Amino acid sequence: MEYLADSHTMKTVDNCSIQEFKIPSVVLMERAALGVSVFLKGLITREKSNKCIKTVCVCGSGNNGADGLAVARQLNENGINVSVVIAGTSEGTEEYRLQKNIVSNLGIECVEYNGNIDFSEYDYIVDAMFGIGLSRNIEGRYAQIAEAVNEAGEKGSVVVAVDIASGINADNGQIMGVAVKADYTVTFGYKKTGIMFYPGATYSGSVEVVNAGFVPENVLHNKVDGFGRTFTYTDDDIDRLVVRTSDSNKGTYGRTLIIAGSKDMGGAAVLSASAAYRSGTGLVKILTHEANKTPLLVRMPECLIATYQDNKPLAAELKKDFAWAKSIAAGPGLSMNEVAAEITRSVIEINDKVRILDADALNIIAAEKIDFRGNAEGNIIVTPHLMEMSRLIGKSVSDIKKNLVQCAKEFAKEHQCICVLKDARTVVTDGTNVYINSTGNDGMSTGGSGDVLTGLTAGFTAMGIDAFEAACLAVYVHGKAGDIAALNRGKAGMTASDIANAVADAIKR
Ligand code: ADP
Ligand code: ADP
Ligand code: MG
Repeated sequence: MEYLADSHTMKTVDNCSIQEFKIPSVVLMERAALGVSVFLKGLITREKSNKCIKTVCVCGSGNNGADGLAVARQLNENGINVSVVIAGTSEGTEEYRLQKNIVSNLGIECVEYNGNIDFSEYDYIVDAMFGIGLSRNIEGRYAQIAEAVNEAGEKGSVVVAVDIASGINADNGQIMGVAVKADYTVTFGYKKTGIMFYPGATYSGSVEVVNAGFVPENVLHNKVDGFGRTFTYTDDDIDRLVVRTSDSNKGTYGRTLIIAGSKDMGGAAVLSASAAYRSGTGLVKILTHEANKTPLLVRMPECLIATYQDNKPLAAELKKDFAWAKSIAAGPGLSMNEVAAEITRSVIEINDKVRILDADALNIIAAEKIDFRGNAEGNIIVTPHLMEMSRLIGKSVSDIKKNLVQCAKEFAKEHQCICVLKDARTVVTDGTNVYINSTGNDGMSTGGSGDVLTGLTAGFTAMGIDAFEAACLAVYVHGKAGDIAALNRGKAGMTASDIANAVADAIKR
């Protein structure tokens, strides 16, 4: 688990360290700048000989600029040719003035940006214009500088951003007018949420988190409201998937019911159920339209199958299958006819099991304005993609995309459920804790990928993993399986079946 921070949390961590624990801000700044200069020195010695390279630090007049000035001093100290371009127009913060004074005293070349600096003459450009303090769109001279830096970047200069690329919103990763496109970002303390989300993730390049000497985590948990509530996973977290025991049987690992596949969309049932089986769960039953029975059995001999017909009353049979299952997923390829609606309503009404609602189950909820608040109590997991979320809440896809975290949190809080808002960076939240995923790739933008996630989530919850944690782990493993499928098949050639098949490798340790 790796903690993430938005700008508010990060500022609170900073304030707590400085004001309450009395760590001088210049001490933090020196640690932070060392993180950047040591990283840069590593790059330089790896890529080129120290002697012939030219570096420039582009500094704003806030504390990000002050960091940049300290980096310039440290590079100079290491015998690296460095100059400073002053991007800021104001007198600057106290820290900025302090660092600027030292740089001047040392005689490091320091020029005001005058509109005709060709940044491409520099091998390395340190972007220290704005950090997490960026509060409005970048315009005028700052915008010109960002564009000039990007032009140089295209011509081959290596751009290293201090804390976060200038122009990227530290919270949601959106571009504030224009942004510097970095090859590397050295970020302080915690990865900023804006570095996780696109386009911020692309503009950040490779990201290095450095310890800048803030007070330790055990202290922050008590002192900083909300600290540690936003996080991402790494491979180590896969170890928390249920450990198997030698004397187990199939009953040990839970029974999963997948309700998927209408007359014309039987494939969704295959994708969800095969992913559920690969998750490690003991038994998987598919409830599907009777037309799918034979092809499903041919494709997946492991599965139990229950079927429904078009016009038959369902309630009694559903009850039996619901009672059998430990967790129930409904929606992939279900279609939106009356039987599908009846199934969806019945699933919502079983309050004592974990339920995963996806795809058409969500479309039915949106179309019929079904209020499932009283039935959720934290054990309903909804897995909408952006369009499905748009139908649920009546906001535009572009508005949702601008603030995935806020949108998912509001939905989870209001409906007392766990919300998995699926996008290139999927967010999982129970309304308080927020997981932001980092696995996966654009090869997964292919029909059926989401059905695989639904099956995986159902499998993990059937195995007894807590619903929120199971949803986060499923999203992580799903993306990892996508990454493995991309390695094997290429992003263009991979299919959702490849992702389902790669789940086994993704969880193998
Ligand atoms: P911090 O000190 O929190 O790291 P930064 O160095 O990122 O903050 O920048 C904060 C400074 O930049 C503040 O003085 C703020 O008023 C100014 N600022 C923020 N956004 C803009 C902008 N779009 N254009 C010009 N100045 C800005
Ligand atoms: P379907 O309904 O066709 O199965 P969904 O839209 O429901 O597909 O789900 C697509 C899945 O693929 C989601 O889990 C999403 O996060 C993932 N995905 C799609 N595109 C990308 C991408 N560019 N990067 C990472 N993951 C992606
Ligand atoms: Mg889907």
